[in-house]
Amino acid sequence: MSLFEKSGEGLEDEYRRRRERMVKQQLAGRDVRDPAVLEVMGRVPRHLFVSPEYRHEAYEDYPLPIGNGQTISQPYIVASMTEFLLPDKRKRVLEIGTGSGYQTAVLAELFGRVVTVEIIPELSRGAQEVLRGLGYTNIAFHVGDGLSVPSAEERFAAIIATAAPETVPAELIDRLLPGGRMVLPVGSFTQHLQLVTRDESEAIHMETLYAVRFVPWRH
Ligand code: SAH
Repeated sequence: MSLFEKSGEGLEDEYRRRRERMVKQQLAGRDVRDPAVLEVMGRVPRHLFVSPEYRHEAYEDYPLPIGNGQTISQPYIVASMTEFLLPDKRKRVLEIGTGSGYQTAVLAELFGRVVTVEIIPELSRGAQEVLRGLGYTNIAFHVGDGLSVPSAEERFAAIIATAAPETVPAELIDRLLPGGRMVLPVGSFTQHLQLVTRDESEAIHMETLYAVRFVPWRH
């Protein structure tokens, strides 16, 4: 039976099977190791974060359009970036680029609190609707540029951006707590994922992880 012929419980079972296969093949089958990240990726209903026309592709190994010229990241990238943040319920995370809200949901499951910023109001509204519908209460939503909101003096144990600036924004480095970790794509035509850490003596370290392709940072 094709996905379209199923409804109700049968359909939910089919999404669950696809999610399990995604975790096994695309995540654990590559290099994602954190059991908590794998468990959450196997549970969050990614198909609810894409429009109905793309639901049958929600668990495939590639990004999908979410409107306004933006994309929901490939599942592997979501899991891998999350793992680099060393998630912990005692930590707060700042996310730039709410987009569909899927990465936000994964973060909300693994961190104590998520502050998420999106520059396109319509995308933020859509994400809020889905995330509230799923019952998340530990997410603060902001509409605007990721560098200007929210309260500039607040620092975070983890920061993730899912749009690519040309260089690592100093404003974001400033917002890392000692021991904090930030992961983001950097570059224009060729982009690489960068891991920026602030050690306990406040020194900053940067490490280039791997090549990626994200939407550009909007100014
Ligand atoms: N994590 C999202 C990825 C969405 S794509 C998901 O998986 O669905 C990146 C998002 O970053 C887009 O929604 C885009 O509008 C947003 N964005 C781009 N530049 C931004 C900026 N300067 N401040 C806040 N959000 C920004």
